[in-house]
Amino acid sequence: MAMRGILQGLGTKPGPGGRASRAGDDILSPIAMDDSHRRLQLLDEFEAGGIAWFWATDDQNRLIYLSPSAAELFGLSHQDLIGRALASLFILEQDVNDEAAERPLPFLLSARTKFANLTVRLASEGDPRWWTISGKPYQDPEGAFLGYRGGAKDITADYERNRDTSRAAQFDALTGLANRNRMSKRLTALLTAYRSAKRSCALMMLDLDRFKQVNDTLGHPAGDELLKQVAQRLERIVGTKGEIGRLGGDEFQIILPDIDDRGELGELAHRIIQMISQPYSLDGSRAIIGTSVGMAIAPYDGIEPADLIKSADLALYAAKGGGRGQYRFYSNDLKDSAQKRREVEEDLRDALTRGELQMHYQPVVRATDNTVVGFEALMRWEHPERGAISPAVFIPIAEESNLINSLGEWALRQACADAAQWPGELRVAVNVSAHQFNSENLPTVVTNALASTGLKARQLELEITESVFMGDKAAVDTMFARLKKIGVKLSLDDFGTGYSSLGYLRRAPFDKIKIDQGFVRGCTESDNSNSAIIAAIVSLAEALEMETTAEGVEAMDELALVRLRRATNVQGFIYSRAVPQAQVLEKLGDGDFVYQPSGPPKQRSQRRTVFRRIGVIHEDARYEAVMRNLSKTGAMIEGLLDVPVGTDLVLDLSEGQLAVGTVRRSQDATQGIEFETPLISDGADGLCTRHRISPYALAAAGMPLKALPSGQYALIQNASGGGSRPRFMQVDVQMGASRAA
Ligand code: C2E
Ligand code: MG
Ligand code: MG
Repeated sequence: MAMRGILQGLGTKPGPGGRASRAGDDILSPIAMDDSHRRLQLLDEFEAGGIAWFWATDDQNRLIYLSPSAAELFGLSHQDLIGRALASLFILEQDVNDEAAERPLPFLLSARTKFANLTVRLASEGDPRWWTISGKPYQDPEGAFLGYRGGAKDITADYERNRDTSRAAQFDALTGLANRNRMSKRLTALLTAYRSAKRSCALMMLDLDRFKQVNDTLGHPAGDELLKQVAQRLERIVGTKGEIGRLGGDEFQIILPDIDDRGELGELAHRIIQMISQPYSLDGSRAIIGTSVGMAIAPYDGIEPADLIKSADLALYAAKGGGRGQYRFYSNDLKDSAQKRREVEEDLRDALTRGELQMHYQPVVRATDNTVVGFEALMRWEHPERGAISPAVFIPIAEESNLINSLGEWALRQACADAAQWPGELRVAVNVSAHQFNSENLPTVVTNALASTGLKARQLELEITESVFMGDKAAVDTMFARLKKIGVKLSLDDFGTGYSSLGYLRRAPFDKIKIDQGFVRGCTESDNSNSAIIAAIVSLAEALEMETTAEGVEAMDELALVRLRRATNVQGFIYSRAVPQAQVLEKLGDGDFVYQPSGPPKQRSQRRTVFRRIGVIHEDARYEAVMRNLSKTGAMIEGLLDVPVGTDLVLDLSEGQLAVGTVRRSQDATQGIEFETPLISDGADGLCTRHRISPYALAAAGMPLKALPSGQYALIQNASGGGSRPRFMQVDVQMGASRAA
């Protein structure tokens, strides 16, 4: 009925075959093209069946017709719809489809162009509905625009299905974060756009520490819940600065457009590590995890997505290798260090049997009278080719490769044997890794070590870190009880670095808290709260009748402060480094139980001994020099003769890192340089500049971008050749003169 009306209204005349034909009459006989009546009937049925609808507008694009069954979907009567602007019946939605986003309906209508299968969303109440609509303008014989005629079709079910599949293909169902696929597309799109715009983009890779343990001990639903909470925390920290994705498992990635300041990135990474390390509540259970972060920045560390990802991955690998809860920036050295780590792991397997491991002992001294009360046993590894390798490097490797139990057992026995030879009842403190603590037979190992060496249980102290509380609660409590029953002392190591929950202190029978050196370092500087934190930890320990040891005391001002704050004991280079057993016996054998503190009056900005060839740029000449030491605020270089105090120099620290500084001290071929802008930590014990010279800038100076391997570019390579005459004489410094790190 309805269709007939409009067709007639539009001037369609019933054809000659339009005789009234009674229903059922000749239904199965062919419909002649001129049989308007039967054709209209067909259209009516088509419309009413909702297979598709028809619509038409006037020359103002106001609706003059819409199939009645379609009108119902707007919740309006046909009458109410007629006369409305067609465009007002639909909502403009950005993500409907690309075509609609680029050339939306109102645009097409006002341009009076033909359109086909445009996806639109109905401006109706209730559940959202989507249509595709097509339309064709029509004109009078003189060519004047009369309006549109068109068709429409409901595609809601298809649309929603497609959208869900495309969401599933792009987002992680568990956390709602972008998935690997989407992150990869985003990174490619960004880097391509940024490359021509010469903009930078940072990439962060995160891997959760100890996530597997939570999954194993608390179950997969708890693991899932944990991942969700991690995602929420990340979103809170990152906000609009970047896009976060979960690549799978416990791996996350963050794309941070337009950031190349490593100071800012380091702070962000630090905040992320701190936030992720706060305890989680998972359906009644508490869990604690950590995270490691690796970072790479385009274009410095990679121009193509694959290169940038590889760099960030290497940085992450290095961060994990450096111990837990750390961040790292990519640098060229890392390429070698990944390989080195694998080799170290190989060699560590044989280190014990080859006798390359040793225990050294660092005195723990009573704060009030400098008398030694015991020693901490620290493992030392003298590698036949690599020299000394730090336990901060090899202990985490041992933990990951399941070597820690045998190393730990050996350490316990050796330390007990050595301590049994010390005069008096001095204590020996042995570090016990969380892996050992979680192993059933630790009490047996301890009892055997004591029995075979004759050391009294109360002379043995086990140093445990907060990470042991990660394990199953009941098992942890049982282990504490079993160890206490043996009679050994327990101390909480590195307090303040992890989660520092007071709950732990109440739950576990600790005899001592070791205040981490992070709080001692710089505790006398006015701009930090370390001094107040030390005071708080000490009074807490006093209330719980525990002793305290301040770790890592190096300078006299630090010693004065920890004494003032009433720490019971002090351990640090100010008294002694860890030394071999022979030296301990020598000192104690003379009946000398007192250690005199000796160290710098104040903690200086940490200066590291390095030995590295660098470039020095002055005016437009470039020199080769050797850097002897480096701190955040300055460096000592060697190689240029008689550079006057006050000269401004630029140090090329390689990889695009330029540090501008002024000569403050100068003698012969050695200069002390003060930097204009302090360097920042690279997350490990290294330093780096905040910003780097972009390879784009170098490309602009004539160096083709493609020719620059990622991260490997020395600045103004041959400037000493051209330009003005060098002003300073260059002397050759022998690299071999000192031991390279
Ligand atoms: P830790 O247990 O916190 O040990 C203290 C670390 O601080 C030692 O580093 C020590 O040499 C260093 N230290 C002491 N005084 C100062 C100071 O005044 N200034 C500075 N800068 N450092 C100071 P070390 O020997 O490199 O050991 C690092 C970590 O490796 C230890 O930290 C411990 O967690 C682990 N470790 C060492 N030996 C063993 C072991 O036998 N078993 C286990 N499981 N872990 C061990
Ligand atoms: Mg320790
Ligand atoms: Mg410690």
